[in-house]
Amino acid sequence: MLDFSDLPVVDVHCHPYRRADALSPEEWVDALAFGGGSPAYLQEGGIDVDAAALTMLGRLKRDTLYFRFMLHRLAEYFGVATTVDAVVAARNRAIANEGYANYAGRLHQAGRIEALIVDDGYPLPQINLDKFRAEVGVEVLPVFRIEVLIQDLLDDDCGWSEFRQRYDESIAEALGNGGYRGLKSIIAYRTGLDIDPGSRSPDQGRVALDRLRRARGRGDDPVKHLRDHLFCRAIERCIDFDVPFQVHTGMGDWEVHLAACRPALLMELLRYPAYRACKFLLVHTGYPYHGEAGYLANVLPNIWCDISEGLPFAGNAGKRIIAEVLEMAPISRVCYGSDVYGSPEPFYTSALLGKQALGQALGELVDDGFLSVGEAQEAARMILADNARELYGN
Ligand SMILES: [Zn+2]
Repeated sequence: MLDFSDLPVVDVHCHPYRRADALSPEEWVDALAFGGGSPAYLQEGGIDVDAAALTMLGRLKRDTLYFRFMLHRLAEYFGVATTVDAVVAARNRAIANEGYANYAGRLHQAGRIEALIVDDGYPLPQINLDKFRAEVGVEVLPVFRIEVLIQDLLDDDCGWSEFRQRYDESIAEALGNGGYRGLKSIIAYRTGLDIDPGSRSPDQGRVALDRLRRARGRGDDPVKHLRDHLFCRAIERCIDFDVPFQVHTGMGDWEVHLAACRPALLMELLRYPAYRACKFLLVHTGYPYHGEAGYLANVLPNIWCDISEGLPFAGNAGKRIIAEVLEMAPISRVCYGSDVYGSPEPFYTSALLGKQALGQALGELVDDGFLSVGEAQEAARMILADNARELYGN
């Protein structure tokens, strides 16, 4: 295993959060853990959320390998016992003693995190990024999530001319003066990645929105036609502004369309001649279908793979995911990302896990004669930061 702990990190996909100085252990677990359901999820199913149900939910969140790894690394960082109570008390104490910005900045420095590329489409309502930037003490580059804009326009119930104009202008404003460094789509959570590239026809947007507003959508799916068209429009804006398009692929939270989130579904669209100039970052590298993303990054020239979410949320799978993506993806097309949120701590522990997983995966490639130690060092540097900097021109 190689040691990459000193290498700088650019987190290519993560989320801003609201500052919280003092948290109870339960609040901290709720803010950071991945999965495990929620009281609202049970209530919507008519299930009574009593004390026993809350205990069960809390236990599920603490029982993932992701959470256990985070807790161990934080206990080491603070020099306290490996319990949620001890770690949260140490965190709250440190923030009270040194101030939030110092605390967050020190954690990022410990992971050598230099920049966060954030999707501020989660959480909603959106986080004020100027405030967030001042609080975390690290460079913050935002990407613009098109589905937040689409929902606003649908709620306004306007006609196609106004819809299209406001859609295009809002994106141009975001990428122009707004400081956004690219676009992001979660269409995999909505109507799926099986997007017909012919959806770019302006008539498709007009007809689909008209059907949707007049509820004449029987027999086909106007929502899907509209979203597919707007997705294609977003690709064209990315080409105009020469910025990358982040597309959610693979797993997410429980709402994701798990059967329609495979990277393979994007192939028709990605190789469509009109879209070959767009740089696509396949967010989460399609995990658990990450082999498909690695293949796409191999056979098509403008595809990047972001290993976030599988790493850190799939725990010990990080080294396997990296190794399997690298089976086909060029080293220069793979980027570190975390997809974490909520508080500074998981940004730090995810960087540690990313470096550990890279050390294991690349170390094995050295043992097997695929890379020299020097090449493995260079590959780690590229995956952890340089590829993202090159992609975002930063
Ligand atoms: Zn995300």
